[in-house]
Amino acid sequence: MMLKDALERFQSQFKTEADCIAFMEETRWPNGFKCPSCSCSDAYRITTRVLPLFECKGCNIQTSLTANTIMHRSRTPIRKWLLTLFLVSSSEGSVNAVRLANLLQVTYKTAWSMLHKIRRLISRWDAGHLLSGDVEAKHEIYMKQIIVTEERMKQEKSIIVARGSGHADEVSVEHEASDRPYYKLKLVGRESEARKPLSDEERQIFVELHCQRQLCSFQFNAKSSPNRKFPYEEVKEYWVDGYHSGNTCEKYSPYGWNAAAVNARIKECPFLYPLSIIAAEGFRWINETFFGIGMKYAQSYIDEYCFRMNYGWGQGSSPLLRLSQLALTDGNNKVDEADSQRSVRGNLSRYNASAA
Ligand SMILES: [Zn+2]
Repeated sequence: MMLKDALERFQSQFKTEADCIAFMEETRWPNGFKCPSCSCSDAYRITTRVLPLFECKGCNIQTSLTANTIMHRSRTPIRKWLLTLFLVSSSEGSVNAVRLANLLQVTYKTAWSMLHKIRRLISRWDAGHLLSGDVEAKHEIYMKQIIVTEERMKQEKSIIVARGSGHADEVSVEHEASDRPYYKLKLVGRESEARKPLSDEERQIFVELHCQRQLCSFQFNAKSSPNRKFPYEEVKEYWVDGYHSGNTCEKYSPYGWNAAAVNARIKECPFLYPLSIIAAEGFRWINETFFGIGMKYAQSYIDEYCFRMNYGWGQGSSPLLRLSQLALTDGNNKVDEADSQRSVRGNLSRYNASAA
């Protein structure tokens, strides 16, 4: 799905601001308004405002639709917020802050801040989800340099790509949850060069941080895993600018394939591809969408990619519902910068401490 299709789908589904408000209200309070202060469900609905405002009959506290959510006191209309959530949750609606600012007719700063808030939610959500079942993991190089010099190699970062067979989605998205894998890509904080193989301790730290205590199996270098149910599928064909070259793609080569086709296949048969392809697809998406990013926010962009892999499947409304539920969770306005940075740093400092 291209951005244009995503926009058309959004326009037909959410024609007006009122449509968007109704969707958001239904998402936040599926069983009707509930006061966040006293849990009372009896309230006056004040209709003189653009956004629905409720006054609790129990404690008289007024609560608006967006109060204490990531949209708290935002002057950006709900429809613009919903379009942003829609694009982030749709599988091919890649959008960066420049593009989003144009689409929404808002400043770059506003667009960046909206995307940033959404990414922080995603990272927090992911932090609460540990890999389960049969877990495969692989060490990859993020920002891998083609021309190798000492200076260039410093840009390379170690990253672990992992897939758990259990998809622990406990909120109300009802469909084939159990036969979908859950992915994590996590940067490994280390001072030494990224090409050095992972130590046993680095592997152990990954397991401790990102996996449930009791796994069915855990395998590094999944290609030789005896627990795999299916053989991997080779990428056999590729297209260049719509022209089918007929050549056989270099085995598992990350570039030069028909990305859309591979993407579709990954969604259809997620277990058929080696983890190196999952990681390479992520790196390609990040490069094409964001044109190179600094390391400060790299993990949150990578988490966004994983969110799309984990939830942005199919054309249904479930990924949007999931992301909207996160965005409308009470108390999310208090998620500050420090919070998400802490989880990343906590991660890295554990690695650094162990390396020292
Ligand atoms: Zn109340």
